[in-house]
Amino acid sequence: MNIGVLALQGAIREHVKAIEAPDVNVTIVKKVEQLEGLDGLVFPGGESTTMRRLINLYGFYEPLKKFAHAGKPVFGTCAGAILMAREIVGQVEPHLSVMDMTVERNAFGRQRESFEALLPMKNVGEDVQAVFIRAPIIRSVGPGVTVLAEYNGDIVAAQEGPFLACSFHPELTEDDRFHQYFVQMVRESLSEAITN
Ligand code: GLN
Repeated sequence: MNIGVLALQGAIREHVKAIEAPDVNVTIVKKVEQLEGLDGLVFPGGESTTMRRLINLYGFYEPLKKFAHAGKPVFGTCAGAILMAREIVGQVEPHLSVMDMTVERNAFGRQRESFEALLPMKNVGEDVQAVFIRAPIIRSVGPGVTVLAEYNGDIVAAQEGPFLACSFHPELTEDDRFHQYFVQMVRESLSEAITN
């Protein structure tokens, strides 16, 4: 199985570590051609506006949309989730608009620029470690979206079919259960492709 980590900007290496396994080959994606042959893709955290600029600059915009529209699993963390959202509060246009949710950037306020929490997460487990850094909040989700985790009543992780998004940085902890959940999604999407 081949999983890529979009490596235009942001925390890359930690994602690679959390995904790597004997049956998982991880590609650090810096060029559009590297999307070829990938079964799943991670959009890391960082700065969504910078990432979007680099997506345009390196010709990734259409290929990434095509990747998602093909139904291949995508996991966006923090800025990566912002890239996936159909709507961004206060912004006229979204970025890739692949997942039916509205996000608000930097939504925890200045006092809470960064913090850690242990969250119960649907399908993943109890006390999942989450690091929030200038994190967005998922303000609303469409009917096809499952909320996986909330923090103080705000949605911070969600899934819509093959798309997974979270407000926080699961890669900055030793707890790789959320990444393994994504790897399992990729595994299942491959076995479905074989049986169909
Ligand atoms: N605040 C950043 C943004 O708006 C996201 C922060 C992060 O990825 N840690 O893109």
